[in-house]
Amino acid sequence: MSPQNSLHSLETLRFDNRFIRDLPADPEKSNHQREVIGACYSRVVPVKTVQPALVAYSKEVMDDLDLTQALCESDDFAQIFSGNRLLSDMDPYATCYGGHQFGHWAGQLGDGRAINLGEILNHKGERWALQLKGAGPTPYSRSADGFAVLRSSVREFLCSEAMFHLRVPTTRALSLVLTGESVLRDMFYDGHPKQEPGAIVCRVAPSFTRFGNFQIFSSRGDVKTLKRLADYTIRTDFPHLGEPSKETYIQWFKEICDKTAEMIVHWMRVGFVHGVMNTDNMSILGLTIDYGPYGWLENYDPNWTPNTTDAQGRRYRFAHQAQIAQWNLLQLAYAIYPLVEETEPFEKSLSLFSENYEEQWQSMMAQKLGLKKYETKTDETLITDLLAVLQLTETDMTLFFRKLAQVDVKTSSLSDVRDETLMAPLMEAYYTPDQITDGHRAEISKWLRQYIRRLQTDGLEIETRRKQMNRFNPKYVLRNYLAQLAIDKSEQGDHTMVNQLLEVLRHPYDEQPGKEEFAKKRPDWARTKAGCSMLSCSS
Ligand code: AMP
Ligand code: MG
Repeated sequence: MSPQNSLHSLETLRFDNRFIRDLPADPEKSNHQREVIGACYSRVVPVKTVQPALVAYSKEVMDDLDLTQALCESDDFAQIFSGNRLLSDMDPYATCYGGHQFGHWAGQLGDGRAINLGEILNHKGERWALQLKGAGPTPYSRSADGFAVLRSSVREFLCSEAMFHLRVPTTRALSLVLTGESVLRDMFYDGHPKQEPGAIVCRVAPSFTRFGNFQIFSSRGDVKTLKRLADYTIRTDFPHLGEPSKETYIQWFKEICDKTAEMIVHWMRVGFVHGVMNTDNMSILGLTIDYGPYGWLENYDPNWTPNTTDAQGRRYRFAHQAQIAQWNLLQLAYAIYPLVEETEPFEKSLSLFSENYEEQWQSMMAQKLGLKKYETKTDETLITDLLAVLQLTETDMTLFFRKLAQVDVKTSSLSDVRDETLMAPLMEAYYTPDQITDGHRAEISKWLRQYIRRLQTDGLEIETRRKQMNRFNPKYVLRNYLAQLAIDKSEQGDHTMVNQLLEVLRHPYDEQPGKEEFAKKRPDWARTKAGCSMLSCSS
């Protein structure tokens, strides 16, 4: 960003708080837990913290907000983005939403610990909403305290930015600030709560509106407020659709389906498991939102879920995410149905969702494999067989695809090459190489031969293909154990690893010589360690 566009002081951040200006407010002013009827939000002020201290900030989000390094590193910054000091144009509020949790309607949820500071217009005219997560209770806090602990805040901060750099649609994170307070949490839900450092992430997105923001009004038969929020959302976040009308609502729903499909395809590409795909955690803009007990696939296991609360039913397992997204979209369709009063357009969009998803998933897999394009005749079995091969023996998904680009495809007499030679570039991806049987080796090599033959007929130049593959298959992802190591250090007051990870994850597709330690597969000690393999919702 050129210096003339950057701000000289945080006081000059340009606020334009359209959400609260255009939508109905809760008339009740006091901050106590309650049902909020007929309103989209309640005004609420963040709790003051004793000693806010900056842990990390994102340079890219800093640029988006026209801020500078000096401003982000100033004392004022930590004061403002911990909610300790409000700027004069801030008008903080928490929004009202409901949601289906694990398939069941849960009624009013709302921003229980998210406080919106307002919306910024940057010098390009882009609108960015700022939201503090963990800044204290709101009318939507139910029985909880409104705060957040350092471990979950590190995870949210790092993953938001890692996803952005991986080109996965996501909400962003400007800053991670320690509050200086401690927060009581029962991390394992086993009756042994302990004090943990409190922290606040400032999240940034064009909008934080969720499916649940619409669901709450239709569940109460409040079509008036439902329509106001839908019209507001279309005018603000989908202006290209034109003025709201029945036709526009139908188009709008279709676009939400498209954006959601695109987001899930990206998750499948990088091996991300959200962990809590409740309808209140689904963004209307198709952004990955609410980083809780998420996880990254290490060994490829389509049934894996990182969320201990979901260990039984595995509703939110890796391979089920598209189906869940469609189920969530169906709930959104029910919610906005009163604006259209026809089922057919919704049914059409929902069935298109499956088709689109399937098509985009196939084309994404073709890109991961370095093919020019997906050809049903050859690639349907190629991919099905690959997914089976990945499950024969513990195989690191990220390393496997990254290393696949190094497989020798020039071999003319494929039948003469030894299996070991073919597989050599992939060996680093295997967790227990000594347990690879002759049978496994035969199957993996059979697949590799099938793959190489396919590449040979595709005829893409070797270097071009490698480059393509390395643009779709990241080398660096936020491995669960890496996040946990950074958290362990941060909890001891050493934030260097959080900042190192932030830096490495800015270039996930680059080789980054010297940074290989951040690309290593999960070490054995992390296999069963809390925070590394399974996570609870406690945060
Ligand atoms: P989540 O599972 O994080 O998506 O949260 C579900 C609901 O619980 C949302 O309404 C959150 O705002 C709320 N919530 C989660 N943790 C807290 C907390 N510590 N304090 C207040 N509300 C919370
Ligand atoms: Mg949530």
